[in-house]
Amino acid sequence: MTVALSLANLVAVALFIYGLHQLNSPPTARAGNQLAMVGMAIALVSSLLQTQGVGWWAILVGVILGGTIGIVAALRVKMTAMPQMVALYNGAGGAAAAAISTLEFFVLASGNGENAVVSVSLVLSAIIGCLSFAGSIIAFLKLQELMTGRPITYPGQQIVNGLILLTILGLAGWFVVTLGTMPVLAFVGLLICALLLGVLFVLPIGGADMPVVISLLNSFTGLAVAVTGFEINSTLLIICGALVGASGTLLTVMMGKAMNRPLTNVLFGAFGSGGGSEPAAGSGGPQQIRSAGADDVAIMLAYASKVIFVPGYGMAVAQAQHSVKALADQLEKRGVQVLYAIHPVAGRMPGHMNVLLAESNVPYEQLLDMEDANPEFSTTDVALVIGANDVTNPAARSVKSSPIYGMPILDVDKAANVIVLKRSMRSGFAGIDNPLYEMPNTSMLFGDAKASVDALTSAVKAL
Ligand code: NDP
Repeated sequence: MTVALSLANLVAVALFIYGLHQLNSPPTARAGNQLAMVGMAIALVSSLLQTQGVGWWAILVGVILGGTIGIVAALRVKMTAMPQMVALYNGAGGAAAAAISTLEFFVLASGNGENAVVSVSLVLSAIIGCLSFAGSIIAFLKLQELMTGRPITYPGQQIVNGLILLTILGLAGWFVVTLGTMPVLAFVGLLICALLLGVLFVLPIGGADMPVVISLLNSFTGLAVAVTGFEINSTLLIICGALVGASGTLLTVMMGKAMNRPLTNVLFGAFGSGGGSEPAAGSGGPQQIRSAGADDVAIMLAYASKVIFVPGYGMAVAQAQHSVKALADQLEKRGVQVLYAIHPVAGRMPGHMNVLLAESNVPYEQLLDMEDANPEFSTTDVALVIGANDVTNPAARSVKSSPIYGMPILDVDKAANVIVLKRSMRSGFAGIDNPLYEMPNTSMLFGDAKASVDALTSAVKAL
Protein backbone atom coordinates (compact mmCIF):
# COMPACT_ATOMS: atom_id res chain seq x y z
CA MET A 1 0.00 0.00 0.00
CA THR A 2 2.78 2.44 0.97
CA VAL A 3 4.58 1.81 -2.32
CA ALA A 4 1.34 2.31 -4.27
CA LEU A 5 0.69 5.62 -2.49
CA SER A 6 4.26 6.82 -3.10
CA LEU A 7 3.86 5.96 -6.78
CA ALA A 8 0.56 7.83 -6.89
CA ASN A 9 2.27 10.87 -5.37
CA LEU A 10 5.03 10.62 -7.97
CA VAL A 11 2.44 10.56 -10.77
CA ALA A 12 0.67 13.58 -9.21
CA VAL A 13 3.93 15.56 -9.02
CA ALA A 14 4.84 14.63 -12.61
CA LEU A 15 1.40 15.86 -13.74
CA PHE A 16 1.88 19.16 -11.85
CA ILE A 17 5.25 19.78 -13.48
CA TYR A 18 4.10 18.80 -16.97
CA GLY A 19 0.88 20.81 -16.49
CA LEU A 20 2.92 23.88 -15.53
CA HIS A 21 5.09 23.37 -18.60
CA GLN A 22 1.97 23.24 -20.79
CA LEU A 23 0.95 26.67 -19.46
CA ASN A 24 3.88 28.10 -21.42
CA SER A 25 1.82 28.48 -24.55
CA PRO A 26 -1.86 29.40 -25.10
CA PRO A 27 -2.73 26.39 -27.34
CA THR A 28 -1.62 23.89 -24.65
CA ALA A 29 -2.57 25.89 -21.53
CA ARG A 30 -6.08 24.45 -21.12
CA ALA A 31 -4.81 20.86 -21.36
CA GLY A 32 -2.04 21.76 -18.88
CA ASN A 33 -4.58 23.01 -16.40
CA GLN A 34 -6.66 19.86 -16.79
CA LEU A 35 -3.61 17.64 -16.28
CA ALA A 36 -2.74 19.53 -13.10
CA MET A 37 -6.35 19.06 -11.91
CA VAL A 38 -6.01 15.30 -12.40
CA GLY A 39 -2.72 15.47 -10.47
CA MET A 40 -4.46 17.32 -7.64
CA ALA A 41 -7.27 14.74 -7.50
CA ILE A 42 -4.68 11.91 -7.24
CA ALA A 43 -2.77 13.86 -4.54
CA LEU A 44 -5.97 14.44 -2.54
CA VAL A 45 -7.02 10.78 -2.63
CA SER A 46 -3.52 9.60 -1.74
CA SER A 47 -3.32 12.06 1.17
CA LEU A 48 -6.72 10.98 2.47
CA LEU A 49 -5.70 7.32 2.35
CA GLN A 50 -2.63 8.14 4.44
CA THR A 51 -4.59 10.15 6.99
CA GLN A 52 -4.76 8.56 10.41
CA GLY A 53 -6.44 9.53 13.65
CA VAL A 54 -8.81 12.11 12.13
CA GLY A 55 -12.55 11.63 11.81
CA TRP A 56 -13.38 11.04 8.13
CA TRP A 57 -16.59 12.97 8.51
CA ALA A 58 -14.55 16.08 9.46
CA ILE A 59 -12.49 15.75 6.27
CA LEU A 60 -15.61 15.17 4.20
CA VAL A 61 -17.33 18.25 5.62
CA GLY A 62 -14.18 20.29 4.88
CA VAL A 63 -13.92 18.99 1.32
CA ILE A 64 -17.62 19.62 0.57
CA LEU A 65 -17.58 23.08 2.14
CA GLY A 66 -14.29 24.21 0.60
CA GLY A 67 -15.07 22.59 -2.76
CA THR A 68 -18.50 24.25 -2.97
CA ILE A 69 -17.14 27.70 -2.10
CA GLY A 70 -14.31 27.23 -4.63
CA ILE A 71 -16.58 26.09 -7.47
CA VAL A 72 -19.21 28.80 -6.92
CA ALA A 73 -16.57 31.55 -6.60
CA ALA A 74 -14.68 30.37 -9.70
CA LEU A 75 -17.87 30.26 -11.77
CA ARG A 76 -19.06 33.68 -10.65
CA VAL A 77 -15.82 35.66 -10.64
CA LYS A 78 -15.34 38.22 -13.39
CA MET A 79 -12.10 38.02 -15.35
CA THR A 80 -11.21 41.53 -14.14
CA ALA A 81 -11.64 40.44 -10.50
CA MET A 82 -9.25 37.51 -10.90
CA PRO A 83 -6.31 39.15 -9.06
CA GLN A 84 -8.33 39.59 -5.85
CA MET A 85 -9.63 36.03 -6.12
CA VAL A 86 -6.05 34.77 -6.44
CA ALA A 87 -5.19 36.92 -3.40
CA LEU A 88 -7.97 35.28 -1.36
CA TYR A 89 -7.01 31.74 -2.35
CA ASN A 90 -3.39 32.54 -1.69
CA GLY A 91 -4.31 33.86 1.75
CA ALA A 92 -6.19 30.61 2.41
CA GLY A 93 -3.02 28.63 1.53
CA GLY A 94 -0.96 30.72 3.96
CA ALA A 95 -3.61 30.33 6.68
CA ALA A 96 -3.67 26.55 6.15
CA ALA A 97 0.11 26.31 6.58
CA ALA A 98 -0.04 28.47 9.73
CA ALA A 99 -2.97 26.44 11.13
CA ILE A 100 -1.10 23.14 10.67
CA SER A 101 1.95 24.62 12.42
CA THR A 102 -0.17 25.90 15.30
CA LEU A 103 -1.70 22.46 15.80
CA GLU A 104 1.74 20.84 15.62
CA PHE A 105 2.97 23.36 18.21
CA PHE A 106 0.38 22.15 20.69
CA VAL A 107 1.42 18.57 19.98
CA LEU A 108 5.05 19.53 20.70
CA ALA A 109 4.16 21.63 23.74
CA SER A 110 2.39 18.67 25.32
CA GLY A 111 5.45 16.39 24.82
CA ASN A 112 9.18 16.80 25.18
CA GLY A 113 9.83 18.86 22.14
CA GLU A 114 10.97 17.68 18.71
CA ASN A 115 14.15 17.65 16.70
CA ALA A 116 15.64 20.86 15.34
CA VAL A 117 14.49 20.28 11.72
CA VAL A 118 10.84 20.00 12.75
CA SER A 119 11.13 23.01 15.07
CA VAL A 120 12.69 25.20 12.37
CA SER A 121 10.13 24.08 9.76
CA LEU A 122 7.25 24.62 12.16
CA VAL A 123 8.23 28.13 13.16
CA LEU A 124 9.02 29.11 9.56
CA SER A 125 5.71 27.87 8.19
CA ALA A 126 3.82 29.57 11.04
CA ILE A 127 5.55 32.92 10.39
CA ILE A 128 5.46 32.88 6.59
CA GLY A 129 1.93 31.46 6.54
CA CYS A 130 0.60 34.22 8.85
CA LEU A 131 2.44 36.92 6.92
CA SER A 132 1.12 35.65 3.61
CA PHE A 133 -2.42 35.29 4.97
CA ALA A 134 -2.62 38.80 6.46
CA GLY A 135 -0.88 40.41 3.46
CA SER A 136 -3.17 38.64 1.00
CA ILE A 137 -6.29 39.79 2.88
CA ILE A 138 -5.12 43.42 2.71
CA ALA A 139 -4.33 42.94 -1.00
CA PHE A 140 -7.85 41.55 -1.50
CA LEU A 141 -9.47 44.46 0.36
CA LYS A 142 -7.49 46.98 -1.71
CA LEU A 143 -8.26 45.37 -5.06
CA GLN A 144 -11.92 44.85 -4.19
CA GLU A 145 -11.99 48.56 -3.23
CA LEU A 146 -13.22 47.70 0.25
CA MET A 147 -10.43 49.99 1.46
CA THR A 148 -8.35 52.65 -0.28
CA GLY A 149 -6.15 51.30 -3.06
CA ARG A 150 -3.61 54.06 -2.51
CA PRO A 151 -0.43 53.41 -0.51
CA ILE A 152 -0.92 54.07 3.21
CA THR A 153 2.27 55.54 4.60
CA TYR A 154 3.28 57.17 7.89
CA PRO A 155 6.57 58.44 9.28
CA GLY A 156 8.90 55.79 10.66
CA GLN A 157 7.06 53.00 8.78
CA GLN A 158 10.22 51.07 7.88
CA ILE A 159 11.50 51.38 11.48
CA VAL A 160 8.23 49.98 12.91
CA ASN A 161 8.33 47.11 10.38
CA GLY A 162 12.01 46.50 11.23
CA LEU A 163 11.23 46.32 14.97
CA ILE A 164 8.39 43.86 14.41
CA LEU A 165 10.68 41.74 12.22
CA LEU A 166 13.34 41.75 14.96
CA THR A 167 10.74 40.66 17.55
CA ILE A 168 9.65 37.83 15.23
CA LEU A 169 13.26 36.70 14.75
CA GLY A 170 13.87 36.82 18.52
CA LEU A 171 10.77 34.75 19.31
CA ALA A 172 11.59 32.33 16.47
CA GLY A 173 15.10 31.87 17.89
CA TRP A 174 13.59 31.12 21.32
CA PHE A 175 11.23 28.62 19.73
CA VAL A 176 14.05 26.73 17.98
CA VAL A 177 16.36 26.74 21.02
CA THR A 178 13.60 25.24 23.20
CA LEU A 179 12.70 22.78 20.40
CA GLY A 180 9.18 24.13 20.23
CA THR A 181 8.39 23.99 23.94
CA MET A 182 8.22 27.75 24.56
CA PRO A 183 5.21 29.13 26.51
CA VAL A 184 1.94 29.22 24.61
CA LEU A 185 1.63 32.95 25.14
CA ALA A 186 4.99 33.58 23.47
CA PHE A 187 3.96 31.47 20.48
CA VAL A 188 0.67 33.36 20.19
CA GLY A 189 2.69 36.61 20.35
CA LEU A 190 4.83 35.32 17.48
CA LEU A 191 1.74 34.60 15.36
CA ILE A 192 0.28 38.04 16.11
CA CYS A 193 3.55 39.77 15.17
CA ALA A 194 3.68 37.84 11.88
CA LEU A 195 0.06 38.77 11.09
CA LEU A 196 0.79 42.41 11.93
CA LEU A 197 3.85 42.44 9.70
CA GLY A 198 1.78 41.00 6.83
CA VAL A 199 -0.71 43.87 7.19
CA LEU A 200 1.92 46.60 7.56
CA PHE A 201 4.01 45.19 4.71
CA VAL A 202 1.16 45.50 2.17
CA LEU A 203 -0.45 48.76 3.40
CA PRO A 204 2.16 51.06 1.79
CA ILE A 205 1.95 49.31 -1.59
CA GLY A 206 -0.09 51.12 -4.24
CA GLY A 207 -2.86 49.91 -6.52
CA ALA A 208 -0.89 49.33 -9.72
CA ASP A 209 1.71 47.31 -7.83
CA MET A 210 -0.79 44.99 -6.13
CA PRO A 211 -0.59 42.20 -8.75
CA VAL A 212 3.20 42.08 -8.26
CA VAL A 213 2.71 41.86 -4.51
CA ILE A 214 0.12 39.12 -4.88
CA SER A 215 2.58 37.16 -6.96
CA LEU A 216 5.23 37.67 -4.26
CA LEU A 217 2.81 36.61 -1.50
CA ASN A 218 2.01 33.60 -3.65
CA SER A 219 5.66 32.60 -3.57
CA PHE A 220 5.63 33.10 0.24
CA THR A 221 2.68 30.73 0.54
CA GLY A 222 4.56 28.19 -1.59
CA LEU A 223 7.51 28.48 0.77
CA ALA A 224 5.26 28.11 3.84
CA VAL A 225 3.67 25.00 2.34
CA ALA A 226 7.07 23.51 1.45
CA VAL A 227 8.39 23.90 5.01
CA THR A 228 5.11 22.49 6.34
CA GLY A 229 6.02 19.44 4.25
CA PHE A 230 9.26 19.05 6.26
CA GLU A 231 7.29 19.51 9.46
CA ILE A 232 4.74 16.77 8.81
CA ASN A 233 7.05 14.66 6.65
CA SER A 234 5.12 15.04 3.38
CA THR A 235 7.17 14.89 0.18
CA LEU A 236 4.09 15.92 -1.78
CA LEU A 237 3.79 19.19 0.14
CA ILE A 238 7.52 19.89 -0.16
CA ILE A 239 7.45 19.50 -3.95
CA CYS A 240 4.15 21.34 -4.51
CA GLY A 241 5.22 24.16 -2.22
CA ALA A 242 8.56 24.45 -4.01
CA LEU A 243 6.76 24.60 -7.39
CA VAL A 244 4.46 27.39 -6.20
CA GLY A 245 7.32 29.21 -4.50
CA ALA A 246 9.59 29.05 -7.53
CA SER A 247 6.93 29.97 -10.10
CA GLY A 248 5.65 32.81 -7.89
CA THR A 249 9.17 34.19 -7.55
CA LEU A 250 9.82 33.96 -11.30
CA LEU A 251 6.51 35.66 -12.09
CA THR A 252 7.27 38.44 -9.59
CA VAL A 253 10.64 39.08 -11.22
CA MET A 254 9.17 39.00 -14.73
CA MET A 255 6.37 41.44 -13.83
CA GLY A 256 8.86 43.79 -12.20
CA LYS A 257 11.01 43.64 -15.34
CA ALA A 258 8.04 44.32 -17.63
CA MET A 259 7.21 47.42 -15.56
CA ASN A 260 10.90 48.31 -15.30
CA ARG A 261 10.53 48.48 -11.53
CA PRO A 262 13.02 46.81 -9.20
CA LEU A 263 11.25 44.72 -6.53
CA THR A 264 12.59 46.97 -3.76
CA ASN A 265 10.86 49.90 -5.48
CA VAL A 266 7.57 47.99 -5.67
CA LEU A 267 7.77 46.99 -1.99
CA PHE A 268 9.09 50.18 -0.46
CA GLY A 269 8.47 52.84 -3.14
CA ALA A 270 4.83 53.64 -2.11
CA PHE A 271 4.10 54.05 -5.84
CA GLY A 272 1.13 56.34 -6.53
CA SER A 273 1.06 57.90 -3.05
CA GLY A 274 1.43 61.37 -4.49
CA GLY A 275 -2.34 61.68 -4.81
CA GLY A 276 -4.07 62.87 -7.98
CA SER A 277 -2.74 62.79 -11.47
CA GLU A 278 0.73 63.65 -12.53
CA PRO A 279 0.42 66.38 -15.16
CA ALA A 280 2.01 65.29 -18.40
CA ALA A 281 4.83 67.26 -19.93
CA GLY A 282 3.49 69.73 -22.42
CA SER A 283 0.02 69.21 -21.08
CA GLY A 284 -2.10 72.02 -22.29
CA GLY A 285 -5.42 70.78 -20.95
CA PRO A 286 -8.43 69.24 -22.58
CA GLN A 287 -8.72 71.89 -25.33
CA GLN A 288 -5.96 70.07 -27.26
CA ILE A 289 -7.92 66.85 -27.40
CA ARG A 290 -9.53 65.85 -30.71
CA SER A 291 -12.68 63.77 -30.53
CA ALA A 292 -13.77 61.63 -33.51
CA GLY A 293 -17.03 59.96 -34.48
CA ALA A 294 -17.41 56.24 -35.27
CA ASP A 295 -18.18 56.92 -38.95
CA ASP A 296 -14.96 58.91 -39.50
CA VAL A 297 -12.87 56.29 -37.72
CA ALA A 298 -14.55 53.50 -39.70
CA ILE A 299 -13.53 55.16 -42.99
CA MET A 300 -9.96 55.51 -41.72
CA LEU A 301 -9.87 51.82 -40.74
CA ALA A 302 -11.58 50.50 -43.87
CA TYR A 303 -9.17 52.25 -46.23
CA ALA A 304 -6.03 51.45 -44.24
CA SER A 305 -3.58 48.81 -45.34
CA LYS A 306 -2.27 47.96 -41.85
CA VAL A 307 -4.12 48.36 -38.52
CA ILE A 308 -2.78 47.38 -35.11
CA PHE A 309 -5.22 46.80 -32.25
CA VAL A 310 -3.81 47.66 -28.82
CA PRO A 311 -6.00 46.13 -26.12
CA GLY A 312 -5.82 47.10 -22.45
CA TYR A 313 -7.69 46.87 -19.19
CA GLY A 314 -10.71 48.75 -20.63
CA MET A 315 -11.26 45.98 -23.21
CA ALA A 316 -11.49 43.53 -20.31
CA VAL A 317 -13.90 45.76 -18.37
CA ALA A 318 -16.13 46.20 -21.42
CA GLN A 319 -15.81 42.50 -22.35
CA ALA A 320 -15.20 43.76 -25.88
CA GLN A 321 -12.97 40.89 -27.07
CA HIS A 322 -15.63 39.24 -29.27
CA SER A 323 -16.59 42.60 -30.79
CA VAL A 324 -12.91 43.28 -31.47
CA LYS A 325 -12.60 40.00 -33.35
CA ALA A 326 -15.75 40.84 -35.35
CA LEU A 327 -14.25 44.21 -36.33
CA ALA A 328 -10.98 42.51 -37.33
CA ASP A 329 -12.94 40.05 -39.51
CA GLN A 330 -14.72 42.92 -41.28
CA LEU A 331 -11.44 44.72 -41.92
CA GLU A 332 -9.69 41.58 -43.12
CA LYS A 333 -12.55 40.96 -45.56
CA ARG A 334 -11.61 44.31 -47.09
CA GLY A 335 -7.95 43.27 -47.34
CA VAL A 336 -6.70 45.25 -44.33
CA GLN A 337 -3.84 43.59 -42.44
CA VAL A 338 -4.83 43.38 -38.74
CA LEU A 339 -2.35 42.73 -35.93
CA TYR A 340 -2.64 42.89 -32.13
CA ALA A 341 0.09 44.42 -29.96
CA ILE A 342 0.21 42.89 -26.48
CA HIS A 343 2.03 44.67 -23.67
CA PRO A 344 3.23 42.27 -20.97
CA VAL A 345 1.40 44.17 -18.19
CA ALA A 346 -1.69 45.26 -20.12
CA GLY A 347 -4.80 44.54 -18.05
CA ARG A 348 -4.51 43.44 -14.47
CA MET A 349 -2.63 40.16 -14.62
CA PRO A 350 0.01 38.58 -16.82
CA GLY A 351 -1.47 37.13 -19.99
CA HIS A 352 -4.80 38.92 -19.38
CA MET A 353 -5.12 40.11 -22.99
CA ASN A 354 -3.92 36.82 -24.47
CA VAL A 355 -6.58 34.92 -22.50
CA LEU A 356 -9.37 37.26 -23.63
CA LEU A 357 -8.32 37.29 -27.27
CA ALA A 358 -7.84 33.51 -27.29
CA GLU A 359 -11.42 33.27 -25.96
CA SER A 360 -12.64 35.09 -29.06
CA ASN A 361 -10.50 32.89 -31.36
CA VAL A 362 -8.02 35.50 -32.53
CA PRO A 363 -5.26 33.54 -34.32
CA TYR A 364 -2.11 33.38 -32.14
CA GLU A 365 0.11 34.43 -35.01
CA GLN A 366 -1.63 37.83 -35.10
CA LEU A 367 -0.68 38.53 -31.46
CA LEU A 368 2.62 40.39 -31.31
CA ASP A 369 4.66 40.76 -28.13
CA MET A 370 5.84 44.28 -27.37
CA GLU A 371 9.32 43.69 -28.84
CA ASP A 372 7.86 42.47 -32.14
CA ALA A 373 5.04 45.02 -32.23
CA ASN A 374 7.06 48.18 -31.69
CA PRO A 375 9.00 48.10 -34.99
CA GLU A 376 5.63 47.66 -36.81
CA PHE A 377 4.04 50.93 -35.65
CA SER A 378 6.04 53.21 -37.96
CA THR A 379 4.53 51.41 -40.98
CA THR A 380 1.01 51.27 -39.52
CA ASP A 381 -1.86 53.42 -40.76
CA VAL A 382 -4.02 53.19 -37.66
CA ALA A 383 -3.20 52.10 -34.10
CA LEU A 384 -6.57 51.40 -32.46
CA VAL A 385 -6.07 51.65 -28.70
CA ILE A 386 -8.92 49.74 -27.05
CA GLY A 387 -9.13 50.63 -23.35
CA ALA A 388 -5.36 50.74 -22.90
CA ASN A 389 -3.76 53.74 -21.25
CA ASP A 390 -0.58 53.36 -19.14
CA VAL A 391 0.97 50.84 -21.53
CA THR A 392 0.83 53.42 -24.33
CA ASN A 393 1.96 56.45 -22.31
CA PRO A 394 4.94 58.14 -24.05
CA ALA A 395 5.78 59.92 -20.76
CA ALA A 396 7.44 56.61 -19.83
CA ARG A 397 10.02 57.34 -22.54
CA SER A 398 10.64 61.04 -22.00
CA VAL A 399 9.31 62.50 -18.73
CA LYS A 400 11.97 61.76 -16.12
CA SER A 401 9.71 62.83 -13.25
CA SER A 402 6.92 60.46 -14.28
CA PRO A 403 6.36 57.48 -11.95
CA ILE A 404 6.36 55.20 -14.99
CA TYR A 405 9.56 56.67 -16.47
CA GLY A 406 11.62 53.81 -17.91
CA MET A 407 8.72 51.38 -18.26
CA PRO A 408 8.84 49.91 -21.79
CA ILE A 409 5.66 50.93 -23.64
CA LEU A 410 3.93 50.18 -26.92
CA ASP A 411 5.06 52.93 -29.32
CA VAL A 412 1.57 53.59 -30.70
CA ASP A 413 2.41 57.28 -31.21
CA LYS A 414 4.70 56.22 -34.10
CA ALA A 415 1.67 55.11 -36.15
CA ALA A 416 0.30 57.51 -38.77
CA ASN A 417 -2.99 57.74 -36.86
CA VAL A 418 -3.86 56.79 -33.30
CA ILE A 419 -7.49 56.27 -32.27
CA VAL A 420 -8.09 55.85 -28.54
CA LEU A 421 -11.27 54.14 -27.36
CA LYS A 422 -12.14 55.01 -23.76
CA ARG A 423 -15.03 56.52 -21.85
CA SER A 424 -13.49 59.74 -20.52
CA MET A 425 -10.22 61.55 -19.92
CA ARG A 426 -9.71 59.64 -16.65
CA SER A 427 -6.27 58.23 -16.04
CA GLY A 428 -5.34 54.54 -16.04
CA PHE A 429 -4.31 52.47 -13.03
CA ALA A 430 -1.07 54.39 -12.48
CA GLY A 431 -3.15 57.56 -11.96
CA ILE A 432 -1.17 59.76 -14.36
CA ASP A 433 -2.01 61.84 -17.43
CA ASN A 434 -1.21 60.50 -20.88
CA PRO A 435 0.38 63.00 -23.33
CA LEU A 436 -0.53 60.63 -26.19
CA TYR A 437 -4.05 62.06 -26.13
CA GLU A 438 -2.78 65.51 -27.08
CA MET A 439 -0.56 64.45 -29.96
CA PRO A 440 -1.51 65.74 -33.42
CA ASN A 441 -1.99 62.24 -34.85
CA THR A 442 -4.31 61.13 -32.01
CA SER A 443 -8.12 61.24 -31.90
CA MET A 444 -10.36 60.03 -29.09
CA LEU A 445 -13.47 57.92 -29.68
CA PHE A 446 -15.29 58.28 -26.36
CA GLY A 447 -17.62 55.58 -25.05
CA ASP A 448 -17.69 52.07 -23.67
CA ALA A 449 -15.16 50.00 -25.64
CA LYS A 450 -17.68 47.33 -26.67
CA ALA A 451 -20.26 49.85 -27.85
CA SER A 452 -17.60 51.80 -29.77
CA VAL A 453 -16.14 48.72 -31.45
CA ASP A 454 -19.64 47.48 -32.39
CA ALA A 455 -20.41 50.91 -33.88
CA LEU A 456 -17.16 50.74 -35.88
CA THR A 457 -18.01 47.27 -37.18
CA SER A 458 -21.46 48.38 -38.32
CA ALA A 459 -20.03 51.49 -39.95
CA VAL A 460 -17.32 49.49 -41.79
CA LYS A 461 -19.97 46.99 -42.95
CA ALA A 462 -22.08 49.83 -44.29
CA LEU A 463 -19.26 51.27 -46.42
P1 NDP B 1 -4.89 51.22 -17.62
O1 NDP B 1 -5.38 50.84 -16.27
O2 NDP B 1 -3.71 52.07 -17.72
O3 NDP B 1 -6.04 51.98 -18.42
C1 NDP B 1 -7.27 51.38 -18.68
C2 NDP B 1 -8.13 52.41 -19.36
O4 NDP B 1 -9.31 51.73 -19.78
C3 NDP B 1 -8.57 53.52 -18.44
O5 NDP B 1 -7.88 54.72 -18.74
C4 NDP B 1 -10.09 53.63 -18.64
O6 NDP B 1 -10.42 54.96 -19.05
C5 NDP B 1 -10.35 52.66 -19.78
N1 NDP B 1 -11.60 51.91 -19.55
C6 NDP B 1 -12.04 51.33 -18.44
N2 NDP B 1 -13.23 50.76 -18.64
C7 NDP B 1 -13.55 50.98 -19.95
C8 NDP B 1 -14.65 50.64 -20.76
N3 NDP B 1 -15.70 49.94 -20.29
N4 NDP B 1 -14.63 51.03 -22.05
C9 NDP B 1 -13.60 51.75 -22.54
N5 NDP B 1 -12.53 52.10 -21.81
C10 NDP B 1 -12.50 51.72 -20.52
O7 NDP B 1 -4.72 49.86 -18.41
P2 NDP B 1 -3.51 49.29 -19.26
O8 NDP B 1 -3.94 47.94 -19.68
O9 NDP B 1 -3.07 50.27 -20.29
O10 NDP B 1 -2.31 49.19 -18.21
C11 NDP B 1 -2.30 48.25 -17.14
C12 NDP B 1 -1.83 48.89 -15.84
O11 NDP B 1 -1.87 47.94 -14.79
C13 NDP B 1 -0.40 49.40 -15.93
O12 NDP B 1 -0.25 50.53 -15.11
C14 NDP B 1 0.38 48.23 -15.35
O13 NDP B 1 1.65 48.62 -14.86
C15 NDP B 1 -0.55 47.80 -14.25
N6 NDP B 1 -0.25 46.43 -13.86
C16 NDP B 1 -0.60 45.39 -14.65
C17 NDP B 1 -0.20 44.12 -14.31
C18 NDP B 1 -0.45 42.96 -15.18
O14 NDP B 1 0.04 41.89 -14.84
N7 NDP B 1 -1.18 43.09 -16.26
C19 NDP B 1 0.53 43.85 -13.11
C20 NDP B 1 0.85 45.02 -12.36
C21 NDP B 1 0.44 46.23 -12.73
P3 NDP B 1 -11.90 55.52 -18.82
O15 NDP B 1 -12.20 55.37 -17.38
O16 NDP B 1 -11.82 56.94 -19.29
O17 NDP B 1 -12.82 54.71 -19.70
